[in-house]
Amino acid sequence: MSDCLFCKIVAKEIPAEIVYETGRTVAFRDINPQAPTHVLVIPKAHHADAAALAEADDGLADDVLKTAHAVAVQEGVADGGYRVVFNTGAGAGQTVFHVHAHVLGGRPLTWPPG
Ligand code: IMP
Repeated sequence: MSDCLFCKIVAKEIPAEIVYETGRTVAFRDINPQAPTHVLVIPKAHHADAAALAEADDGLADDVLKTAHAVAVQEGVADGGYRVVFNTGAGAGQTVFHVHAHVLGGRPLTWPPG
């Protein structure tokens, strides 16, 4: 989508600190990190949110989750515990409507989230 911020990151039209990439996914550091590790994992294909990704029915959601796990291992937070969050819909705090998994770790994470 030409007006989508994260599609522009996929196309390398705007800069991002990419930490991991596969054929169908990209992971890059959040511009406003909420934890020592805060990486966003996205599918390269545009889907608005996690619901649309789930309905894509092509294994892409699986790829995103596998990339999230690979990022956690690479960042060294897998053993200490980390969180994978999909804010889904404006009411849940989603602000960028290209589905993304937040991978957060490197500090104690409290529950429930705000
Ligand atoms: P959401 O609120 O769940 O949609 O998360 C969007 C995330 O994208 C926020 O954590 C923002 O800090 C992050 N973000 C927005 N623009 C950029 C960017 O250009 N590069 C990296 N992260 C971004």
